[in-house]
Amino acid sequence: MSAEKPKVIFVLGGPGAGKGTQCANIVKTYGYVHLSAGDLLRQERNTEGSEYGDLIETHIKNGTIVPVEITCSLLERAMIESSKNKFLIDGFPRSKDNMEGWERQMGSKVNLRCVFFFDCTDQICVDRCLKRGLAGSGRTDDNEESLRKRLLTYQRETMPIIMHYESLGLVRKIDAAKPEEEVFEEIKVIFKEFDAE
Ligand code: UDP
Ligand code: MG
Repeated sequence: MSAEKPKVIFVLGGPGAGKGTQCANIVKTYGYVHLSAGDLLRQERNTEGSEYGDLIETHIKNGTIVPVEITCSLLERAMIESSKNKFLIDGFPRSKDNMEGWERQMGSKVNLRCVFFFDCTDQICVDRCLKRGLAGSGRTDDNEESLRKRLLTYQRETMPIIMHYESLGLVRKIDAAKPEEEVFEEIKVIFKEFDAE
């Protein structure tokens, strides 16, 4: 990593809120590196010989949260390997444990610019994830039972984290119920305002 601390934007919101889709748009337009905590965990789960594979899969299916040491180390490794300095960290931190673990391990190493909050109703989350499941996402958690648990975890554990960042003035709320193009227009306005480029 370069002498200047890497810039980080956390991207939070319910399952299926469109975080991954919009992160891809931001990558194209603003040159950020997209790191999805969920994707990194799925990759680690699929790595032959990983000692964490079973533990990760159990958490994913149950919609519960993997111990922060694992997730945070995967994120730090991906940041170092990219040798870039602007990161969208998608789907993390999603609990108090996540946030405190990140603070301990990474807090002083990065410059947290802001937190994007993709806001939409639970019903939209459910509809989009089930559609994604039917379209063949291959995800073991895009089914009704896992989704119910994921939403519970989101409301109970992730929302308080968003509120915490809100109290620090870091949250940029995005209306995630709108069509993809309109959501990205909103994101562009935010980028212009805080000039994260
Ligand atoms: N997960 C986790 N810690 C993270 C990110 C994800 O434990 O920091 C697990 C958790 O079980 C979650 C699942 O991975 O329900 C899927 O996360 P992902 O971010 O891919 O889901 P999304 O919110 O994008 O639908
Ligand atoms: Mg995602």
